[in-house]
Amino acid sequence: MWCLQPTRACDAALVRQSNKLCRFTKGAAVNCTNCQAPERHLWVLFGLQRQPELVTLRDGNYVSLLSCPICNTLWCSSPYEPYLSFPYAVCWRNDALAWQHLHDRDKGATLLRWHAFAVGKYWRQLPANELEQVAWHRKRSYGHNPIDAPSTFHAADIPV
Ligand SMILES: [Zn+2]
Repeated sequence: MWCLQPTRACDAALVRQSNKLCRFTKGAAVNCTNCQAPERHLWVLFGLQRQPELVTLRDGNYVSLLSCPICNTLWCSSPYEPYLSFPYAVCWRNDALAWQHLHDRDKGATLLRWHAFAVGKYWRQLPANELEQVAWHRKRSYGHNPIDAPSTFHAADIPV
């Protein structure tokens, strides 16, 4: 199932995944110490603040699929202007094959729209030090970013 927003099914799958890979406290899933899944949806991958260590699984057209070496959660990363210097990683709740199929369908165009939509959806949930970086990006990009130019970065219609 494709989803932008965590559903009960997604959460259940993540809990199962966490159950195998992470420790549990009082029956609740503990966030990964590296990528903070399953609670995290978005990471700012520029700036000097702490960032998760992620391994590149697939490289696409200005978009990559990364994996957390601790919990195996997948992250979709794409850099934004200026100079493609402002990468963000969005949690990818499907598998690597689905990512590759979606990428190859239109050379990543749908994935890139989905990514931009997700940045616009989740950026307010970021911690303060990452919000500072987002503010810097918004200033540097003169509004050409998924937050300030939603008409440029259309919401993707991820196929079901
Ligand atoms: Zn992780």
